[in-house]
Amino acid sequence: MGTYYEWVADLDATEADAPELARRVVEALVARKVILPELSPDAALGADGYPAGPAWADTVDVSVSGESPWGVEVRVGREVHNGAQIGVDAVTCPRCSVRREFYGPPEEFGPTCTDDEGLRWFDDAAAVWREGGEADLECRTCGAVAPVTEWQADGAALARLGFVFWGWDELRADVPRWIAEATGGHRVVNGRGKI
Ligand SMILES: [Zn+2]
Repeated sequence: MGTYYEWVADLDATEADAPELARRVVEALVARKVILPELSPDAALGADGYPAGPAWADTVDVSVSGESPWGVEVRVGREVHNGAQIGVDAVTCPRCSVRREFYGPPEEFGPTCTDDEGLRWFDDAAAVWREGGEADLECRTCGAVAPVTEWQADGAALARLGFVFWGWDELRADVPRWIAEATGGHRVVNGRGKI
């Protein structure tokens, strides 16, 4: 079982403008009736969230259970948005654009089919950044050293503003687009998770 969620992260929000952008996104989602305007302790896992509104069904193509999702948690401040049990598949070097895959055939990746060292390499750098530090990753293909925030991860995002849709089925592409619009056209990425 477990709890599924969808996350949407704003890659361009800064420490300074994240609170105001969060307010605008909440306003936009409330206006679309995707969420209700009052925070509730029952709408997110381990945090307060905005309960799902009457138009939540417009945000998913298929509702697996047909039941209302929990709600939306707003995360302001440095956060590593990822899939929890759903791992990061790969990261891409910002200089040479070569992908470093973390999962693959046993001939290359051993019996677990996982590049544990690679995952740790990325996770450790992401954790340092989350705690307020700076961390660089060195590309094993081209040798370039670039901040972890410049690497593109499949299934994760390092961002100062994010929205977690708890107990939600897969979001339609409209939702990240609505969020991007509310931020004034920021780069927005999304993914899913299970906890
Ligand atoms: Zn490279």
